Amino acid sequence: MRFDVAIRNGIVLTMDESMRVLWGGSVGIEDGKISYVGRDEVRGEEEIDARGCVVMPGLINCHTHAAMTLFRNAVEDQPLEKWLKETIWPREARMKPWHVRAGARLACLEMLSSGITCFNDHYFFMEEVAGVVDESGMKAVLCEAMIELFDEERGREALRRGAEFAGRYRGWRGRIWTMLGPHAEYSCSLEFLSKVREEADRLGVGIHMHLAESRPHVEEFVRRNGVSPVKALDRIGFLKSDVILAHAIHLDDDDLRILAERDVAVSYNPVSNMKVCLGMARVDEMLRMGMRVGLGTDGPGTNNSLDLLQDLKTGALLQKLRYMDPTALPVEKAVWMATRGGALALGLRDTGSIKPGMRADVIVLDTRKPRYRPIRSPYTAATYCSTGSDTRDVIIDGRIILRDGQPQTLDPEKTIQEAEKASQDLLGE
Ligand SMILES: [Zn+2]
Repeated sequence: MRFDVAIRNGIVLTMDESMRVLWGGSVGIEDGKISYVGRDEVRGEEEIDARGCVVMPGLINCHTHAAMTLFRNAVEDQPLEKWLKETIWPREARMKPWHVRAGARLACLEMLSSGITCFNDHYFFMEEVAGVVDESGMKAVLCEAMIELFDEERGREALRRGAEFAGRYRGWRGRIWTMLGPHAEYSCSLEFLSKVREEADRLGVGIHMHLAESRPHVEEFVRRNGVSPVKALDRIGFLKSDVILAHAIHLDDDDLRILAERDVAVSYNPVSNMKVCLGMARVDEMLRMGMRVGLGTDGPGTNNSLDLLQDLKTGALLQKLRYMDPTALPVEKAVWMATRGGALALGLRDTGSIKPGMRADVIVLDTRKPRYRPIRSPYTAATYCSTGSDTRDVIIDGRIILRDGQPQTLDPEKTIQEAEKASQDLLGE
């Protein structure tokens, strides 16, 4: 059998309904889609020998602020409020499109080199990010951040810009999807969020928003509105299956039930949540309830890397600790969350499994290294032994964009130089 791209001799994690593992498996890719998975000999225009390596769907980063690579390693060991108010917001106010372009390009270089094939981004000047995504060969779901701050005029302008971006870039180049991006329940009024819902329905796009990330914010919301953020959003008809909530940590049992009933998706961002001490999301329960939960790095300011494989380990460990139960978030579910679960959380039904007909977003991890051996369970190896830099090859829509660890689309040296220049311009020495 001959294909555009043929991957041979791998340990293939299909991540389809069967959750089958193929030892010595082959994958054939044709016209950007998976067209064969099995154990037959495959040949291709391009061939990848994956002997001893794990072959799995590309990782999906369900929540980030890519251009915040510019703030990486800038200020550490601070509470979220102080960090935002003293370091981030004053600089963001001075940001120009070129800063965002340089920061997002560095993020794309890092992500594609770490096995991430698609990311869900919430920031400003998103047409710059769209351009960089296209250049890199990656996929992304993008939204323009809308911070109303209970100011009607400001809200109207933000919604106008957010809707314009979402309408213009939806489906762009076949690899970009858009959403509306209200910031959070503590920075946007319910009246504004109601208008966001109407606009999302009109445009036919989803909504990406931070929710219930810190206890003080939730308590303040309850004092103002008399009910929890989830219940208030449900009352205004905001919660539908096109919504993805970042964090969703401080939820009571009713909130959890409502989110499950409305089929709302959640991005679990364990490293960021730990770093600024926000809390531990009820992810094991969410998954048991059948909710679509993906994994996110959050922005590089609170992580500091964009390494979903490292976060997978942290995320699994944190769930065990949260419930004081070593059976919480088992390895199969953890890997599902970083791949197929993430794709479903973003509404990308034809992505996240290695199965004929699915879009061919595939990565090869170099699991020949000592710390993976003996490998026994590739789910366990991927969850507990891996880091992003073990990514050897990345294929997106059938195109090889990382080969033997070498980026094929972005120039690493130039990308880093430009980002450092932009960072220096914003932060000084
Ligand atoms: Zn965030």
